[in-house]
Amino acid sequence: MIITIKKDTPQQEIDKIVRDFEGRGCSVTLIQGANYNVFGIVGDTASIDEKLVAANKYVDNVQRVAAPYKKANRLFHPEDTVVDVGGVKIGGGEKVAVIGGPCSVETQEQILEIARGIKDAGGTLLRGGAYKPRTSPYAFQGLGSEGIRYLVRARQETGLPIVSEIMSIDKVEEFEEYVDLIQVGARNMQNFDLLKVLGKVKKPVLLKRGLSNTMEEWLMAAEYIMSGGNENVILCERGIRTFEKYTRNTLDLSVIPLMKNKSHLPIVIDPSHATGDWRLVESMSLAAIAAGADGLMIEVHNDPEHAWSDGAESLKIDRFRQVIEKGRRIAQVIGRDL
Ligand code: PEP
Ligand code: MN
Repeated sequence: MIITIKKDTPQQEIDKIVRDFEGRGCSVTLIQGANYNVFGIVGDTASIDEKLVAANKYVDNVQRVAAPYKKANRLFHPEDTVVDVGGVKIGGGEKVAVIGGPCSVETQEQILEIARGIKDAGGTLLRGGAYKPRTSPYAFQGLGSEGIRYLVRARQETGLPIVSEIMSIDKVEEFEEYVDLIQVGARNMQNFDLLKVLGKVKKPVLLKRGLSNTMEEWLMAAEYIMSGGNENVILCERGIRTFEKYTRNTLDLSVIPLMKNKSHLPIVIDPSHATGDWRLVESMSLAAIAAGADGLMIEVHNDPEHAWSDGAESLKIDRFRQVIEKGRRIAQVIGRDL
């Protein structure tokens, strides 16, 4: 951390600042210049609130040099994290995982038919929402536990590990018992109480990027889970909110190389929620693979025109198969498998 203080700062104030940082176990170096004095603070500065430091009237500027996330930081964990989701490995640069399934679980027959299609097309995991975060309270809210039971049955038949979204702490036990990969949706990315509880569970977590969150906020959300002891976190980019209206969100593919540089966690791209339009899903999926994504999460439905949620962005099974076939060829070009 670098702190610039005003030239006319009284010596006793300088001493106070030094004592304060040394008292927190940091070492302090003071460089006195012609117009400013600069402190270099090294040590564990993660718990120091730079806004509070900047509140001191003698402080002109505070700059963090080290990132505030530690567990998620590539610097302290150079090798890629590989997360095991019910036997499927995500991360590590060899294989691209493909998660497919409906936005919402609707009926047992619906999820079974889709699961069979996903399996047959070469998909690796099955997704399906049982608890749905809907903008309108009048929209379908999900089947709840019944939906989880239908997913479990689809896993029994196909062998595909299952992914589903958790919305509240009181469902953690249910998810820990039945779901292979616990999804934290965009709207809950900063539900810190939920993240803390997920830090204690034994199942991996798929952490979606919030609607308008920076990459650093996203990594800090991962840090909440990891610092609790659960280091099996997979990041999922699902588009961010911008001024653009032709797409539901704006897919930020630059997060793939950036996150690979800053963090060791696997990253998955969700082109369905990112675009809101099935017509754009294939090209964005191929682009994500080319950019080095560790996986895709694609909404797939057997009858998108009548889906109970997100039909407009859902692929029919044949199109999903086509994405996998083309995606495999792109993956091979960059030395990966799908
Ligand atoms: C979903 O995956 O169905 C979902 C609601 O996603 P998001 O949190 O990205 O909107
Ligand atoms: Mn959806």
